[in-house]
Amino acid sequence: MDETVTRLLEKRGVTLSRIADLVFDLQHAYVTGLTREIAEESVHHVLRKREVQNAILTGVALDMLAERDELPEPLLTRVKTDEPLFGMDEVLALAITNVYGSIGLTNYGFVDKMKMGVLDEIHHRQDQVNTFLDDIVAGIAAAAAARLAHDAFGADAGS
Ligand code: MG
Repeated sequence: MDETVTRLLEKRGVTLSRIADLVFDLQHAYVTGLTREIAEESVHHVLRKREVQNAILTGVALDMLAERDELPEPLLTRVKTDEPLFGMDEVLALAITNVYGSIGLTNYGFVDKMKMGVLDEIHHRQDQVNTFLDDIVAGIAAAAAARLAHDAFGADAGS
């Protein structure tokens, strides 16, 4: 199943290694010995969680349906134009960050605000609707980073 969501994310222009770059940038100052391989392994762990997979499947489907004008109004316009007050994209991302507790939430806020790396690229792409995708990617990176923080400080990682 994590293969399915991995392929879906790739189809939308986001590889796991780009998400791992975000995780590395978030945590390398705090987690001793962190490598890009460890960061990517943490992304894989996050993608094995069923609630994370469900959030990705739901959000990306809504982006794709909006792209093809296949959502009912007024939802279509709100998703297609990434209306600032829509907010459901952020709510969906919380389903991902919640997996690793409040550190995930803090990381998500930071990643979302800074628009780092691949998030900046997603933000500038005009060829597809990415209303949900950017928050999904930020959520995955934030959760994977939180998981590493839990590991590094000896708390239960929840694997
Ligand atoms: Mg968004």
